[in-house]
Amino acid sequence: MHKDIVVRQLPNFINGDFVETGDTFDVLYPVTGEVTAQAHRAGQAEVDAAVAAARAALTGPWGGLAQAERSSMMRAIADGIVKRFDDFLEAEVLDTGKPKAVASHVDIPRGGANFATFADIVKDHPTEAFRLDTPDGAGALNYGVRRPRGVIGVISPWNLPLLLMTWKVGPALACGNTVVVKPSEVTPSTATLLGEVMNEVGVPAGVFNVVHGFGETGAMITSHPDVDGITFTGETGTGSIILKAVAPTLKASSMEMGGKNAGIVFEDADLDLAVAELGRSCFLNTGQVCLGTERVYVHESIFDTVASRLVDYAKNELRYGYPDDPSTNFGPVVSDEHRDKVLSYYKLAEQEGATVLHGGGAPVFGDERDGGSWVEPTIWTGLAHDSRVATEEIFGPAVALIPFRDEDEVVRLANDTRYGLAATFFSTDVSRVHRVAPRLEAGIVWVNSWFLRDLRTAFGGMKQSGIGREGGVHGLEFYTEMTNVCVKIGT
Ligand code: NAD
Repeated sequence: MHKDIVVRQLPNFINGDFVETGDTFDVLYPVTGEVTAQAHRAGQAEVDAAVAAARAALTGPWGGLAQAERSSMMRAIADGIVKRFDDFLEAEVLDTGKPKAVASHVDIPRGGANFATFADIVKDHPTEAFRLDTPDGAGALNYGVRRPRGVIGVISPWNLPLLLMTWKVGPALACGNTVVVKPSEVTPSTATLLGEVMNEVGVPAGVFNVVHGFGETGAMITSHPDVDGITFTGETGTGSIILKAVAPTLKASSMEMGGKNAGIVFEDADLDLAVAELGRSCFLNTGQVCLGTERVYVHESIFDTVASRLVDYAKNELRYGYPDDPSTNFGPVVSDEHRDKVLSYYKLAEQEGATVLHGGGAPVFGDERDGGSWVEPTIWTGLAHDSRVATEEIFGPAVALIPFRDEDEVVRLANDTRYGLAATFFSTDVSRVHRVAPRLEAGIVWVNSWFLRDLRTAFGGMKQSGIGREGGVHGLEFYTEMTNVCVKIGT
């Protein structure tokens, strides 16, 4: 065994206390399939207690903080995560199996940055103010006052557990809200760990709460009458269920959901750059990145070249291995259930007429990793643009390469999807860059790059990839309520 695993207990975190329920479910190490932790499932009583604690904490020491003090506390949380970097890294790796080289570069630093960034954004955000100049209201002053929305339910997925949870907890707390977090049942560890940090840095009890469990526990939050808003990241199908669940209590909802992101390689692209960036966008985090690319349209004149160079990338640049090995950059997928889903698409691709240029199955190691959740990075040609494999989200390390003839055609193909999260294209023609970027129906469009983003910019998806925008000041629309005050000035 490459790692001595001591099975940890993962309690809920309610009102500053760690709460065990005794009703546990196993958390597995996707590298080998071993049990690494037992999470304590929250039922209605624990969800009610967490929501009540969060509501009570809206006033008292938390509600009374000046924004500058609250922002200082956000920075203390960020520092607290950095201080316990190795603990977060270990917990994330045990839950996800992802290489330490990836998690230490992407997941854990962003966990801290999500608090630090919003500390500044909220503190420095001005309000709007207008002086009326109508005859009946001349001189009257209209201005906006923001207040926290209240108790926010945060429902998060397993692909970037700490990063995506704190992406919501950071702005929620920076705006003065309190939260009840339901992390993915597959990756619950870093949420409990964040509870420890909250106590270590003196965040008042009840401001941050964590309840563990499956969809039923999430549903107890979305339907709870004392929860004021739901922010969700996960599958589009789950998002649709959640929107129905919040309807009776008319909660505000911010939804970040699935995608089937397109990449485009124009005939004038820098191919070294295009292959390197597309390689990352198809295979980083074993393809489990919502912004990753699963279909790439390549100009017919360079199709064979790009296909063979992407295969070389997969063969030479992706290294399977144990997470602790610094040279490993390709880990397992998160669970057996997800592996089976990905492999079902590998099978379907062949039924739909794909030519498998690379991969197409599961690796066999001949060691303990055969008990884990591994799939091969996979590259297909020959799939029709409207095949199921080229239209449905797989969320694995697999990409369909499809040729195109001209710019209008490829814009039409890229937009021909029910999703609209991200798109990535490669061109050295500056006019084409500015012509094509705004025509793509996606919340984020990368040009000659992928996965670069200033956290002050808007983030979210169009169509069935999302509702609303978070990031920067854009998140304030969800995380605050605004009152418009109008004061008539007497003469
Ligand atoms: P999922 O929808 O299965 O689960 C997400 C969360 O919702 C989990 O915590 C789960 O327990 C909870 N949940 C499930 N049913 C629920 C219900 N009825 N009520 C309340 N909560 C419920 O998603 P996943 O498999 O964990 O994550 C992968 C998906 O997330 C992919 O579709 C991916 O594209 C998407 N994703 C989107 C973004 C984005 O920013 N748009 C980012 C990352 C991942």
